[in-house]
Amino acid sequence: MTRRIDLGFSYVPGSIRVRFANADIPVTEVDPAKGEIEIDVGDDDEGEVSIAYQRRLLQGGQPRPDRVIGKADACIYCGSTEALQDEHIIPFGLEGEYVLADASCPTCAAITSRFERAILRHALLSTRTRLNLRTRRPHDRPERLRVVQERDGRRSESDVPVAEHPTHLALPVFDLPAFLRGDVAPNLRSVPPHVWIVPVGSVTMQEASAHAGGDYFGIREEIDVYAFARLLAKIAHGFLAAADLGDVEVFLPSGILGAGEGIGRWVGGAPDRTLPDIGLHHVAINLVDGTVQVRIKLFAQLGGPEYLVVAGRLINPSPE
Ligand SMILES: [Zn+2]
Repeated sequence: MTRRIDLGFSYVPGSIRVRFANADIPVTEVDPAKGEIEIDVGDDDEGEVSIAYQRRLLQGGQPRPDRVIGKADACIYCGSTEALQDEHIIPFGLEGEYVLADASCPTCAAITSRFERAILRHALLSTRTRLNLRTRRPHDRPERLRVVQERDGRRSESDVPVAEHPTHLALPVFDLPAFLRGDVAPNLRSVPPHVWIVPVGSVTMQEASAHAGGDYFGIREEIDVYAFARLLAKIAHGFLAAADLGDVEVFLPSGILGAGEGIGRWVGGAPDRTLPDIGLHHVAINLVDGTVQVRIKLFAQLGGPEYLVVAGRLINPSPE
């Protein structure tokens, strides 16, 4: 008996797996956009049907128009007015389309692009590749991704085709920014589970491991948390610069431009979740007790962690 199932959400083609009575059964992906599948469970459909899926992410690859949402007229990091360049508030390579025109001088752009690269081309490279998020260098996009294997007591690394890679996205889970913790030391602090990790490919670790054989199989995820925190600060600062909040004392430029050690004063995790688990990324600006707090959720559809950045404070005219 063929059963049509409406999952109620869209999914990535090729990502649906259905198990019935503890065995994988064939599934027809009828309409990924509408979330419809068909399965054949026979006539006596006793037993549990379990459906594993990958919710559909905004797929890259297609050109999406940039949207200029403001114009700065001076470098938003150092104030220079020389040779200003446009800034993507969320990086281009993460599908960010919001642009702040004339917002960065070449010196600051060189600094910010360094930590942006550290994240986009290392920690997030496999996820960006697997999800086909857009890139400025399509010819450099890897066709194979790294795995770690152990055989006969010898560990080695090798590359497998993207489609066979058990890609996982890993992001740090932070405590509140030190400023909100009341901590003098401006360190980034992680809280359990410390790392949030979710599969983004359609190949599970077990399948890839069984395919590879050997004694051990895995992937290695490394993220430079300071570079990541500076990237969050840059996103928050860019949104603040684009917003019209009146007179604001900004907190983030020195942490963005510096070595990043002090960035934990302003950047951390949110204590609660207020942004929706839909869309690719979410950014919201909140005014809390005179401070400007920016909440950021990257890869929102996958249920990623919510970050909190204290971006500045409102300067009110002193009362007479
Ligand atoms: Zn500058």
